[in-house]
Amino acid sequence: QMLSGALINGKELFKRIVDSLPSALEKRGFKSVKDAIDSGERQKESFEVRNPVIDHDKCTRCGLCVAVCPYFALSMDEKVEVDAAECFGCGLCESRCPVGAIGGVLI
Ligand code: SF4
Ligand code: SF4
Repeated sequence: QMLSGALINGKELFKRIVDSLPSALEKRGFKSVKDAIDSGERQKESFEVRNPVIDHDKCTRCGLCVAVCPYFALSMDEKVEVDAAECFGCGLCESRCPVGAIGGVLI
């Protein structure tokens, strides 16, 4: 997630995370990262996975999305297919498609 986040949003993402960490910890009542880890608290908000939708009319079958998917959720035979059970909704495929043939993941 950290890798695909940086690939999509740029490596400045890491600086934003580091810069916002002290206030995020304070807001949740933690004194340190270790304090947060030791608490065993998990993120309460649920993460809704959005699977990519392929526009097969636009798709040039370049194969880039299949190559970059870190979860091996895409395959291509006659056309690009999405394995919804494997897709984590990271959005990397959508961000990398050179012709904008993928939608539905990134907001
Ligand atoms: S990256 Fe885009 S154009 Fe290339 S195969 Fe995937 S959907 Fe098609
Ligand atoms: S959203 Fe991420 S996990 Fe899902 S198919 Fe695209 S690259 Fe793979």
